Amino acid sequence: MEEELSSEGKCLYCEQLLSQKEITKHLAKHLAGKEKADVGLKLQTYYHIVVEADIMFLHLLVKGSAKIETIDDFLRDIWLECCGHLSGFRIGRDEIDMNNKVKDVFEPKLKIVYDYDFGTTTRLFLKGLKHYQMNETKNIILLSRNEPLKIMCSTCKKAPAVCMCSVCCWETDAYFCKKCAKKHEKECEDFADYSEMPVVNSPRMGECGYMGGCIDLQRDGVYKLK
Ligand SMILES: [Zn+2]
Ligand SMILES: [Zn+2]
Ligand SMILES: [Zn+2]
Ligand SMILES: [Zn+2]
Repeated sequence: MEEELSSEGKCLYCEQLLSQKEITKHLAKHLAGKEKADVGLKLQTYYHIVVEADIMFLHLLVKGSAKIETIDDFLRDIWLECCGHLSGFRIGRDEIDMNNKVKDVFEPKLKIVYDYDFGTTTRLFLKGLKHYQMNETKNIILLSRNEPLKIMCSTCKKAPAVCMCSVCCWETDAYFCKKCAKKHEKECEDFADYSEMPVVNSPRMGECGYMGGCIDLQRDGVYKLK
């Protein structure tokens, strides 16, 4: 992509759009405020966890007593699942058992690596931020995620890309709007056959048989021109 991409996400609490850099502190303020407001209620420990793959990100609030398998499930649903590949968390070279609890794994500032699919791997980096006492019940709350990136058609450069060619993308930018996809179909045999993949809001775009997530679908689509 010629234009340098950047990303921003909407805050769950106030719907403000913030850059990847700004949003961590912004969310921390809300969470600290919520912790204060929840004093005296029935409380659970929740961990603020950020998941990143380059400029794509998720901010999660995860119950400390949940197994890290819960995070694995969530990542599959929102970003990764194509055909039931294996996955794993590790710290350095040490694998972490999926039955471990979030509170026993996510020490503040500790970096955790997550791989989905050990063939065509999609690698994510997780970091535990602060934890809070909160009156919540869900295992995972999605605080924010990057909005669809501004991926434009590499041919006409005028319309947002809706699909890509997973073969040609190894050599050149191969994102297409609907019209230019029709043209590419005539130039590229693989495209008509199997290599046309949808543009989705996930670091697994174009890999294996990935077609998009199964939760938070309204933000999984293509970029919308403003
Ligand atoms: Zn906010
Ligand atoms: Zn697959
Ligand atoms: Zn085009
Ligand atoms: Zn192609």
